[in-house]
Amino acid sequence: MKVYLDGKFVDAANAKISVFDHGLLYGDGIFEGIRLYQGNVFRLEEHLERLWFSAKAIMLTIPLSRAEMAAAVCEACRQNGLRDGYIRLVVTRGPGDLGLAPWLCTKASVIIIADKIALYPPELYATGLAVATVATRRMGAEAIPPGIKSLNYLNNVLAKIEARQAGAQEAVMLNSQGFVAECTADNVFIVRKDRIYTPAVQQGGLRGITRDTIFDIARGLGLPAEEHDLTRYDLWTADECFITGTGAEVIAVVKLDGREIGNGKPGPVTNRVLTEFRQRVLAEGTRI
Ligand code: PMP
Repeated sequence: MKVYLDGKFVDAANAKISVFDHGLLYGDGIFEGIRLYQGNVFRLEEHLERLWFSAKAIMLTIPLSRAEMAAAVCEACRQNGLRDGYIRLVVTRGPGDLGLAPWLCTKASVIIIADKIALYPPELYATGLAVATVATRRMGAEAIPPGIKSLNYLNNVLAKIEARQAGAQEAVMLNSQGFVAECTADNVFIVRKDRIYTPAVQQGGLRGITRDTIFDIARGLGLPAEEHDLTRYDLWTADECFITGTGAEVIAVVKLDGREIGNGKPGPVTNRVLTEFRQRVLAEGTRI
């Protein structure tokens, strides 16, 4: 495997960065996860826009133009002979000293890994996930604005550990007010009486690019979809629930906190959305 590292393609074994990189020392950096479907990068411009917004928010200068980054992403796929896969784009603050000061870091590092990903076994897309609400609350905008897709994922990692401890495959994270924010790397949706609801990003979630795609799909299918505050009660008593993310794509949640959601099987709206999602990802994208 060839990894893009600061302008060069190097063997994965030689793709190394400094132990003084603040991405490692402080989680000071940003990233994107992007999908490649049949030689098309899905919503590349949207991912790059979000990356540039993350960079702006943390006052990080990305040492490439948007066009150069787009070209490097496509080249990383070609170098690895990929037609379908997952691209991890990372920009670290770069090497600095042992203090926190980001302005002493010399130059941001850009890493692009193009590989395969399978977050869940394929059967689970037919049967759905068991999920647990965890005690770890999603950090709010008063701490780290959740719109920043930063390298600091410890909040989410703690939630993921808790979900596993509870025997669940994913965690529902609430915000400090007790409203549903999101899962550890996915947005949450419910279906009630053929209407689709998801929390506003102000409740502590990332504005997922898959989430945006779901709104487009719902519009195309004539299904009403809107942002709404959601509590655990709303999830427990929903007709259907599903989660969305670049890695997970669209996957049903059939159990939450030991309660079956709906009849305990992926519901008809979820299945329609998933089918449409699978078609849409093949029909759009940037040709590598
Ligand atoms: N929330 C978090 C915290 C995430 O890390 C992700 C995955 N990037 C998402 C939601 C889903 O976003 P997207 O659909 O853009 O992958």
